Amino acid sequence: MVKLALVTGANRGIGFAIANGLAAKGMRVLAGVRSEETAAQVRADFKKAGVDAVPVILDVANAAAIPARLADIERDYGAIDVLVNNAAILIDAPGGFAASLFDMTDDVFRRTWETNVLGPAATIRALVPGMKARGFGRVVNMSSRAGQLSGMGAGFPAYRVSKAALNALTRIAAAEAATPNGDVKINACSPGWVRTRMGGAEASRSPEKGAETAIWLAALGHDGPSGGFFEDKKPLPW
Ligand code: NDP
Repeated sequence: MVKLALVTGANRGIGFAIANGLAAKGMRVLAGVRSEETAAQVRADFKKAGVDAVPVILDVANAAAIPARLADIERDYGAIDVLVNNAAILIDAPGGFAASLFDMTDDVFRRTWETNVLGPAATIRALVPGMKARGFGRVVNMSSRAGQLSGMGAGFPAYRVSKAALNALTRIAAAEAATPNGDVKINACSPGWVRTRMGGAEASRSPEKGAETAIWLAALGHDGPSGGFFEDKKPLPW
């Protein structure tokens, strides 16, 4: 049966490449976007590329509204089998790696937390119980090497904390979703350093390359892993 996938933040960057990749694998794809204007643009982009993907409005910064919004989406399109939590923001400023914890404002921390942690937590809590009940589900949380505790250091404080929390969320959700049959698999991945608005023009990888591991995890077979963290389809230290 054709699987229905939802990718958040799918109008550009790595999310757009993931949506394309999942459609190429034969999934029906719901591409999460933030506005009607963006929906119209991305609908045209998918049509031009011949991709079977439909934009749906989903702002992950408003976690309280996510359960009702996802219920509406599932009523309109059917039960979601595959969830890719890709949307995120990096607003630590100024200077990226030079941005210091000691200059960080509560506002930056709060906004980063809402989008990068509360949003994915809300989508997981809304969709995984249904996946478990139906006996199939795949969840991919788009994390980052910036979230590795094993390599934790200075810079990007709000973003780093949010991605470390997303990694923790991945392990908790995978443990709680585990069944004897292993039919719901929840993993995190790092895309590498990717040429997008977030990654910048100097980054080493294309969005398509950055999307590869997420696509692999979204399409895992029955024997695939759960509760892991991967880059280039290989385990990455937490
Ligand atoms: P971009 O900034 O290029 O794209 C981010 C996407 O997320 C956009 O589609 C954006 O939508 C969407 N988004 C942001 N906030 C929200 C929200 N509140 N609700 C819904 N959608 C939202 O980022 P990338 O493509 O580079 O990053 C994708 C993922 O990969 C992120 O999780 C990021 O942390 C991770 N990552 C990226 C790296 C890189 O080098 N690029 C490295 C490591 C991890 P809009 O157009 O409306 O703003």
